[in-house]
Amino acid sequence: MPARRETAFSKTPQKAGWLSPTNPSDNAAALIRGMIFSGALGPGDWLPPGRELAAHFGISVLTLRVALKSLESTGYIATSRGHQGGSRVTDIEALTRCWLDWWRDKASEVDDMWAFREIIETKTAAFAATRRTQPELDAIEAAVRSSSEDDYASMLRSNDAFHDALASAAHSDRLAKAMVATRQELFLPAGLLLRKRRAAELLEAHTQVFEAVRERDPERAAERMSSHLAWTRTVVGTVLEEARAAANSHR
Ligand SMILES: [Zn+2]
Repeated sequence: MPARRETAFSKTPQKAGWLSPTNPSDNAAALIRGMIFSGALGPGDWLPPGRELAAHFGISVLTLRVALKSLESTGYIATSRGHQGGSRVTDIEALTRCWLDWWRDKASEVDDMWAFREIIETKTAAFAATRRTQPELDAIEAAVRSSSEDDYASMLRSNDAFHDALASAAHSDRLAKAMVATRQELFLPAGLLLRKRRAAELLEAHTQVFEAVRERDPERAAERMSSHLAWTRTVVGTVLEEARAAANSHR
């Protein structure tokens, strides 16, 4: 009998952990969590009624219930029963705790996540500079200008709008999808300790990327996006430390 050959499975670098969860309730929970962290759903906001939300995601009410249960047990939402009941996002203190837990769980992956995000976003900016149409450029400019220094949640929404507009102008669905995914991993919860100075810096950085895209200069667009991300990483790190210190002093 011939010796058993080494199979493809013993040679590939692919690991079990690389299989993405195909569980629809996990996916729905991740999407809702992403909406909370991006500020699309704010502290205290009601989620749409179960039936409506399930239809929106294209899942059953039962599957949605599993997703909501997991978000409830991890502290993102609170659900009340009865005919006045429903699910709503918890308050900013609870969300901050969720955020800190999330970062603690992901600590070993954080460097890799930032490196990946850098690749995705700089390439997106470079593509946008060469591929954008005039209406797309207008949309990018509108997103930059929608930033308001007074309302942090709207500032974060405008940040998302800016990066989304760049992604549309880059004309790559795969890049856009990867960008949304990395943004759901590396974020600041809306409303958390963003200072006015940072709002001004954010506006300046977006303006710089926008100008490079307007000039159709892919190298400069990529370079400016890269320094914007380095800044974002520093801000996230600082806010994280402040939030940790505040959480510890409450203990
Ligand atoms: Zn940004």
